[in-house]
Amino acid sequence: MLEKSFTKEEWTEALKELQSAYKVFVPVKEGDFHNFRPLKNGAKPSFDFQNTRLSAKSIIFPQSERMFEYSLDDSKEDAHIIKETPKDFSTQAIVGIRPCDALAFQLVRINFDNPQYRDPWWIQRMNATTIVGFGCNEPCASCFCTSVGSGPFCEKGLDALMVDLGDRFLVKSLTTKGEALLGALKSGKKADGTVLKQAQELAKGSEKKISSTVPTDRLKDKVVNELFSAHFWERISFACINCGTCTYLCPTCWCFDIQDETCGKEGDRIRNWDACMFPIFTLHGSGHNPRDKKLQRVRQRFMHKLKYYVDKYENGVACVGCGRCVQFCPVNIDIREVFGLMNGY
Ligand code: SF4
Ligand code: SF4
Repeated sequence: MLEKSFTKEEWTEALKELQSAYKVFVPVKEGDFHNFRPLKNGAKPSFDFQNTRLSAKSIIFPQSERMFEYSLDDSKEDAHIIKETPKDFSTQAIVGIRPCDALAFQLVRINFDNPQYRDPWWIQRMNATTIVGFGCNEPCASCFCTSVGSGPFCEKGLDALMVDLGDRFLVKSLTTKGEALLGALKSGKKADGTVLKQAQELAKGSEKKISSTVPTDRLKDKVVNELFSAHFWERISFACINCGTCTYLCPTCWCFDIQDETCGKEGDRIRNWDACMFPIFTLHGSGHNPRDKKLQRVRQRFMHKLKYYVDKYENGVACVGCGRCVQFCPVNIDIREVFGLMNGY
């Protein structure tokens, strides 16, 4: 394992140096929020944030992706033949991702890479990516990661971990990918005992700052049909405006739709993020819609994350406690309350 310490200026320079071998994504301040952007576009990395507004999921699973392309132009030899659109799977690094969001990639892997279905593009991008986590010194009031298998300094799913020590960063490798990234950097010096101790103290103190907790211990034993017909769905869903904010911001939501878009004689088959909160998400070609009421859609979102996923995969809940849906739901629907209602029903 490599453990190196960098002054903040050295780290900014080191990220530039990394670009010779990696496409580097860093958090960038945009107005009042931070989001991940590619460093090569002149982005200025900023590590002064609690969490990015959007998770990093679009780096592996783009919000809109051309899957295939075709031509209807009969003068072309390959007319009417559908071909895979060339894609970029170059080596990349996500630097500064919070541990909850990194764990989310592990939770959704079950959907994209399992014995029944392997999504070649998601898998290739994940394989090409080195994930450098960033410990949370000051978790948000809405974070509840410690209740759902993560934590402010959790190392699951990380290749390396950065710790903000005030005037410098400690960066330690956790996997061979992380070691290769850190080993490629000329700058930085071997972390000494004082730096390592300081990082350990920060990690301990940070866990104690998590003020939100949710119960999960009884979810596995609940009967699906009983939870499905619980009385509280009417009240929970009443204020929802089906905006989809919760699903688009969520690092563990993975639903998508596939559409053909033709312009003149050329066409693309594109997949786009979709959301179970949208009224037409389940609309059938026949006109029938099995979830045409918002109660059904809100219930689906929570049942999927906190019951169906739990039962099907035996891998805990499909939520990493990042708190984004709590912070940004315009009508204050709070998944922490739903955890309590479902677990205690
Ligand atoms: S963010 Fe809130 S209002 Fe919007 S779809 Fe989600 S639960 Fe409904
Ligand atoms: S359900 Fe909410 S708290 Fe849980 S991972 Fe998704 S956005 Fe974060």
